[in-house]
Amino acid sequence: MLIRILASLLLYLLFATTPSTSLAMHVVLDPGHGGRDTGATQGKIAESEITLKIANIVAKQLLNDSRFTVSLTRKDDSYISLEERATIANKKGDLFLSIHVNSSTDSRVHGQEIYFQNQLPPNQESLFLASRENQNVKIDRYVPKATSPALANKKLNADVRSIIEDLERNHRFKLSGLLAEKLYYSWQDDSQQKSNAIRQAPFFVVSNVDKPSVLIEVGYLTNAREAKKLMSPDHQEQIADNIYRAILSFKESLDKPTNKSLN
Ligand SMILES: [Zn+2]
Repeated sequence: MLIRILASLLLYLLFATTPSTSLAMHVVLDPGHGGRDTGATQGKIAESEITLKIANIVAKQLLNDSRFTVSLTRKDDSYISLEERATIANKKGDLFLSIHVNSSTDSRVHGQEIYFQNQLPPNQESLFLASRENQNVKIDRYVPKATSPALANKKLNADVRSIIEDLERNHRFKLSGLLAEKLYYSWQDDSQQKSNAIRQAPFFVVSNVDKPSVLIEVGYLTNAREAKKLMSPDHQEQIADNIYRAILSFKESLDKPTNKSLN
């Protein structure tokens, strides 16, 4: 009997938590930092300015495509807390993408890096980067609400509830990994700028959103050559195009009947 209940809950859960493919997919774009929080800076260049420009271009591309709807966590240079960003994504999104620009004490370091929900013990480097991006907010301060309507049933047995929560977490992790992979290959296809790596790090926003979520560092402001490129409208367009192609490919993967196992 318990097995039958679990099997039906599992089916229900998978349908309930997979980003809707028949309807337009709602993408929440999160331009990192803003307002008093400039993020990384190099001379007069601020990370918050570059992330907003890139996010606006991606939003425009997605809005021109009827397969998507879009929200931005900020539309101008205003300060939005990390909790507010996660709340917007949890309320509206099927997919969350946070856009950032990196910095390093080594001016030779350059390239893109893609991060998704942490399930591995973080190393020193990822902890350092996460502490910078997390604005001193503790990772466990905010607990994402459950996505599955199945969990709304208060009569659920504690064991069943914990199994559903585990399934949800794994499912979200798998889809976040898929999006990270699409972003990685989108950059690999771009001969001008190859992606460095897909990594896991305990970023507040990706860990506190109950939808597939990825954080992308689009380049290093501390590398002189890359900083110059990051300020160029042509380069920003190219980055936005890579992001758009990755999101499109992610949706196409979910839509393919042969890949229903991913759902
Ligand atoms: Zn940042």
